[in-house]
Amino acid sequence: MSLVIGLTGGIASGKSTVSNFFKEMNITVVDADIEARLAVTKGETAYFKILAEFGEDILLADGEIDRPKLGSIIFHQVEKRQVLNDIVHPEVRRRMKDKVETAKKNGEEVVVLDIPLLFESKLTYMVDKTLLVFVDNETQLKRLIARNNLSVEDAEARIHSQMPLSDKLRLADAVINNNGSVEDTKKQLLEILAQFGINKK
Ligand code: ADP
Repeated sequence: MSLVIGLTGGIASGKSTVSNFFKEMNITVVDADIEARLAVTKGETAYFKILAEFGEDILLADGEIDRPKLGSIIFHQVEKRQVLNDIVHPEVRRRMKDKVETAKKNGEEVVVLDIPLLFESKLTYMVDKTLLVFVDNETQLKRLIARNNLSVEDAEARIHSQMPLSDKLRLADAVINNNGSVEDTKKQLLEILAQFGINKK
């Protein structure tokens, strides 16, 4: 029996910090952003579909997809964004499912799916438990500005483009409050894992 945990948060809430704690415990973390990048590399199913849809103009000299160029096309054309999502999302889900299956076959007790848009993309069916990394607005803004070297306006715009963390609170099975120290966050993570029946040090 393996437990599949869906890890989520908001920008600069501390999701990567928690994800690293899982990795330090030798728990497999499947990162949706990484899988989305891998899914469109040369030779993959989504690669050929994107090429058929968007043409060879979106290729780099080495034959890989020019992701910034593709990003710019879909930024300006909403219907193209939908087309791209319809190509890429099923592949990302398939890749994540495969990795979970492999971890289960290997007898791993816990597998983590790190999915930034876990709730927004309605992917909770893929996991047994959802875990939210939460911070208050002020801390989120301060940490985002410090990490990405942004102006207050830019940082606020990025935060406001996402579902508020406060809305995600009531959707999550467990919440880590990451306003305090990283040590305190680790302690909360271990307590939550224990509640889920997983004992780690
Ligand atoms: P996310 O992956 O959710 O975007 P990160 O884990 O990268 O967030 O954290 C955002 C920033 O805040 C990083 O610079 C990180 O080092 C810092 N950070 C995260 N948790 C804490 C904490 N508890 N105390 C101080 N700084 C933190």
